[in-house]
Amino acid sequence: MTEFNQPLGGNEMPRFGGPATMFRLPTATISAALDVGIAGVPLDCGTSNRAGARFGPRQIRAESVLVRPYSMATGAAPFDSLQIADVGDVALNTYNLPASIKLIEQHYAAFVEAGVKPLSMGGDHTITLPILRALYKQHGPMAVVHVDAHSDTNDTMFGERETHGTVFRRALEEGLIEPSKMTQIGLRATGYAAEDFDWARQLGVEVVQAEACWYQSLTPLMQKVRKRIGPTTPTYLSFDIDGLDPAVAPGTGTPEPGGLSGSQGLEIIRGTFGLNLIGADLVEVSPPYDTSGNTSLLAANLLFEMLCSFPGCARRA
Ligand code: MN
Ligand code: MN
Repeated sequence: MTEFNQPLGGNEMPRFGGPATMFRLPTATISAALDVGIAGVPLDCGTSNRAGARFGPRQIRAESVLVRPYSMATGAAPFDSLQIADVGDVALNTYNLPASIKLIEQHYAAFVEAGVKPLSMGGDHTITLPILRALYKQHGPMAVVHVDAHSDTNDTMFGERETHGTVFRRALEEGLIEPSKMTQIGLRATGYAAEDFDWARQLGVEVVQAEACWYQSLTPLMQKVRKRIGPTTPTYLSFDIDGLDPAVAPGTGTPEPGGLSGSQGLEIIRGTFGLNLIGADLVEVSPPYDTSGNTSLLAANLLFEMLCSFPGCARRA
């Protein structure tokens, strides 16, 4: 019987002590012994406004010490049923964004080779492009659930084709994503043109703007998303923390008013359980703008919920 890695308990070492690994898990190298590897990608040279997401992985790890092993809402028990470890950070080149994108893709090839599902902490949203490129080699075109205030489908930004605001334009153009199985949730605020969200719509992507989410549970939306994607399609979840309202997640680089609530964020992630989730990320946490630590704490909890959504995660009957 497999001995699963367990988080260091709060009764074994006070939560404010011990090594600050993600969820107080052991560290490990990426190998076939793992089901899920949690990786940090401390990149922020792809941001268009306030930087600081390079400090995201470290701060999310620090706040993750308060996350306990069981979900009281769903009964999910990821550490009883999946072998999970903190696999450390990608050694990217902070002086060179294109080089960093290549380094990230190379790093994630190791996940594919070992058959380990990546759960990633940004870093700005640029990181998702090389991750999808790496995963595509194993899975082919993927379904995507994308939570964000922004569509991230700009063609270029300041003339550059690969930035945190062009990720899904490139991924769709490159065929990494099956557009009829992609849903964007939480898009809002102001754009460069009134048609900004239509480029993806014209490809068949489902775009659910924030206004369509206001004042309601997103559980029915997620039922529809699960039906649209189906239980076997390889599915990637990409969660930009700025999809949530700046009132709940102020620690980010491009905040937009009128966003999703924390509970709606949980409903989206919990609503991905039952899909064939092959990887997930949480991006754009910028600790310099997170003066209370609340954004990083929320991010740690959202990452826990993502663990609970991976196939094979046990749940209390
Ligand atoms: Mn984004
Ligand atoms: Mn965004």
